[in-house]
Amino acid sequence: MTTTTTTHPLPNATIQGFPRIGPDRELKRAVERFWKGGLSEAELIDEVREQRAATRARLVGLGLQASGGAVPESFSLYDQVLDATVAVGAIPARFGDVEGSALHRYFVLARGDAQHQPLEMTKWFDTNYHFSVPEIDEQTAFEANADWYADGVREAKQQGIEARPVIVGPVTYLLLAKASEQAAPGFNPVTRLADLVGAYATLLRELKAAGATWVQLDEPALVSDSLGLDRGEIVALVEAAYRELAAEADRPAIVLSAPYGDVGEHLTRLAILPVEALHADLVRGAVPEPAALAEALGETQFVAGVIDGRNIWRTNLRERFAELEALREAGVVPVVSTSNNLQHLPYDVRRETKLSDQLRSWLAFADQKVEQVVTLARGLTEGAGAIETELADVEAVLRDRDQAPGVHLPETRDRVASVTAESRQRASEKERREAQRALSIPQLATTTIGSFPQTSEIRVARAAFNRGEIDESAYNAFLREEIERVIRLQEEIGLDVLVHGEAERNDMVQYFAEHLEGFAVTEHGWVQSYGSRATRPSILWGDVVRSAPITVGWSSYAQSLTEKPVKGMLTGPVTILAWSFVRDDQPLGQTAEQVALALRDEIRDLGEVGIGIVQVDEPALRELLPLEASRHEAYLQWSVGSFRLATGGAPAGVQIHTHLCYSEFNEIVGAIDGLDADVTSIEAARSRMDVVQPIGDHGYSRGIGPGVYDIHSPRVPGVDEIRDLIEIARERIDAELLWVNPDCGLKTRGYDETVESLKNLVAATKAVRDREQV
Ligand code: GLN
Ligand code: ZN
Repeated sequence: MTTTTTTHPLPNATIQGFPRIGPDRELKRAVERFWKGGLSEAELIDEVREQRAATRARLVGLGLQASGGAVPESFSLYDQVLDATVAVGAIPARFGDVEGSALHRYFVLARGDAQHQPLEMTKWFDTNYHFSVPEIDEQTAFEANADWYADGVREAKQQGIEARPVIVGPVTYLLLAKASEQAAPGFNPVTRLADLVGAYATLLRELKAAGATWVQLDEPALVSDSLGLDRGEIVALVEAAYRELAAEADRPAIVLSAPYGDVGEHLTRLAILPVEALHADLVRGAVPEPAALAEALGETQFVAGVIDGRNIWRTNLRERFAELEALREAGVVPVVSTSNNLQHLPYDVRRETKLSDQLRSWLAFADQKVEQVVTLARGLTEGAGAIETELADVEAVLRDRDQAPGVHLPETRDRVASVTAESRQRASEKERREAQRALSIPQLATTTIGSFPQTSEIRVARAAFNRGEIDESAYNAFLREEIERVIRLQEEIGLDVLVHGEAERNDMVQYFAEHLEGFAVTEHGWVQSYGSRATRPSILWGDVVRSAPITVGWSSYAQSLTEKPVKGMLTGPVTILAWSFVRDDQPLGQTAEQVALALRDEIRDLGEVGIGIVQVDEPALRELLPLEASRHEAYLQWSVGSFRLATGGAPAGVQIHTHLCYSEFNEIVGAIDGLDADVTSIEAARSRMDVVQPIGDHGYSRGIGPGVYDIHSPRVPGVDEIRDLIEIARERIDAELLWVNPDCGLKTRGYDETVESLKNLVAATKAVRDREQV
């Protein structure tokens, strides 16, 4: 609907972005080698060029058109929000003295150096991807620098591809930013929108000069109720920003993209905007009134995100195709696309040769999602008949999946069906407190969150075991020695409640996935978690069965070595789901109940061998909280319900702990309360105990351990520093209820700093106890 651009329309198939970590984690290898000095800057740049070129060629090979902006350019060396920070010149003043090349400065923002704390990282919407949080204040001097994206466009051109840069949009950028240290109290970054939009306008001009015909601006803020503004206000900001951007005379055509959820009633308002294309997530969202949408769109293209970019299941293409045809009948001509950037998916399911042929036939990774998009688009141009084979093929696969052994197990189903309200109800708090006196836990009890450092010896032994170079008994002997060492160390340090250290776990979710039926693990299914880090989520495809105890042997061995209580250590149902690819043929809540029942059996077995304290970690409880407020209640119902089903069978004398990895206590205090855990540990050190105030205000009556040791960096906190934090907590929390612990597990730390820090933690606790004479 603008007069300024004369570019070709988007072809009828595209995607919102593609993974970049590399099919064999090539990006990770290259940047990590560069960080260690094994690769020069020029070599890294060459390597990255090659990877970008390979990605584009791959997408064209999969059927996206080389012309007209169908191929997204969504590569990033570290993080897409950080890329936007650099592209708009929003470098926080505290990095002003960093010298060296642009690339060097980029990585200092991401990772810090001896003098600079890195930008904080936090989770990107409701995903497990972490981005670098922008820091904005009144003085931030936005200044466009399109180099990163412009290089991509030019390289693509040389390859004969018209790539479409994917950039975080200005409204989302500011709503995700935090006020910098320099900002006046109460400063809100979003007040800088007009200035930032000016920088984006320049960016667009520069991209046009570099030859870009299309650009994609991602505004997931449009689907979130968790950003401190109401949705109508966010839409108004987007309207203001995009009218301004659209008015820029010399720019590429714009796709405004709204991934990760439902824009709902605001869709038609957005459709009126003078951008050239509007994308909506039609997996989580819908088009409420297609005819009204068609009218609002006018000439604007509609990018229909009908293929799910969050899961790995083949979708019912016939249903999706019918939705697209319905849109077309109402007058909307859809460009077929994915619900969001495919960065959350692994590359290619065809490489998973160790999965059964049957399971593999049910799955679609990023490559296969592109193929699904291309198929649907072909159907739209050539008619349904042209894709009938593909439509029928998926239907056959879905039928096969529905009837496959293990997908519906009567034992598991019957057990879930017989769950009652009592199954989730423990004894009263008072009864529990009395029964747990037998554990003789001192006031201001000290403990850790579970894992001890994963040393290279542990990783080497695990790899040797996985390759069959050492047998199970040798591996188990190694782990027992490791447990003994960790127990002795904790006794020596003087901690009150000990852990076995989790040396047997590669990952807190995968370990359980490997020991429960209903899960499969992939070989190459890496997904970027942040920067160069990737995880390999398990696939929860069938009904869950615990065929044997999982952790009981390790915990009871640890307990046999010491007089002090040892905490059993489990991962909770919500976190197991959040960090896996979960079956999509039933509600998440139903799957969570199955996992919960398996954990319930594990807790019972732990109790039977004399483990008096069991921690059930739920670090992902907050992450899965839906972006839309209207879905919160249902979510809290099943998430809290599944935790309580897992723990509800524990006798009054067994103390149930939980651990949450963030400090937004306020936001989910209802959920924390609902979990009904006897003790909750929560991150707090980085925010200098900000959580203590809401805990106090809430009158929280159960045990709570706000972290007093920030484990995110190797820095050792001093005794005085930790004592101060404990004192802050003591102002609002009774000594009976207050626990002293680190922010999170210690697995990423080294032993030297860990031992020193924990000794300081114990000494600081002693100082407070002495002062209070408890
Ligand atoms: N028990 C786990 C550990 O200590 C908890 C990790 C987490 O919260 N992410 O490693
Ligand atoms: Zn944690």
